[in-house]
Amino acid sequence: MTSEIEIVMLGTGGGRFATITQKRRTAGIRIVSEGLNLHLDPGPGALVYSISEGLSPEKLDAVFVSHCHPDHYTDAEVLIEAMTRGMTQKRGTLVADKSVLRGSSVCGPSISKYHQRMVEHTIEAVPNMKFELSNVNISVTEARHTDPDAVGFKFETAEFGGFAYTSDTEYFEGIGRLYDGVRLLILCVMRPSGKPWKGHMTTDDAMRIVEESRPERVILTHLGMQMLFKGPEKEAKLVEERTGVPTIAAVDGMRISFGEEIHVQTKLGNAQQGLSRFVDSSEI
Ligand SMILES: [Zn+2]
Ligand SMILES: [Zn+2]
Repeated sequence: MTSEIEIVMLGTGGGRFATITQKRRTAGIRIVSEGLNLHLDPGPGALVYSISEGLSPEKLDAVFVSHCHPDHYTDAEVLIEAMTRGMTQKRGTLVADKSVLRGSSVCGPSISKYHQRMVEHTIEAVPNMKFELSNVNISVTEARHTDPDAVGFKFETAEFGGFAYTSDTEYFEGIGRLYDGVRLLILCVMRPSGKPWKGHMTTDDAMRIVEESRPERVILTHLGMQMLFKGPEKEAKLVEERTGVPTIAAVDGMRISFGEEIHVQTKLGNAQQGLSRFVDSSEI
């Protein structure tokens, strides 16, 4: 019997202005299963918030970087330093798109050769690729973004089925099919409804993807400044009302346990005074 997978939303902000102002953290997502501890899209703050949330970066087995924008890659090198025991052991797996590893005409590379050499396995992620890490089957999904090499990821377990992360992408014909059958869909919704931006996802696009893929639950994250001003909770409600699929807007520090059931816990209270508590919001 496999234990549940814990998905920790270390950061929920996305885009330049949410990053610069840190209106929301940009630390990415930690995914911890029985045999796998991976950090997905470690933007600015990934190292600091991993430690403050009690998730030692030295326990990492893998670092995933979906594309070559700073809100997704800046802390990748320090996390690799932690994963490789301070660069003393060749250890762990780095999964990243071509622009992050080798550069392209528009960006990158964003992880130095020195760091890439210390990782035991490097996987250049291209759409439709599949591989396995510690009993988790991973598929690379297509994303259409301003980094043309950007990708998303789908994670599947034999026991509990799958969850997925779209990364930054615009809506395109067929995107919903990529996430067909996934139980939990984590969408990078940078913009609110009615505010389209080429290469990025709005709440309207999110609705179409959810309608097409019909997951059990949806989390909106990677929230941009306009989304934050508009109110991510209201936008999540729009998705839920339109699609009938329970949808919540992520908040920093949110923990999702993915097992037979999907539970979401939100940290409330004043962490600075050590008065934090967890509230089970799975019924929201
Ligand atoms: Zn982004
Ligand atoms: Zn991006």
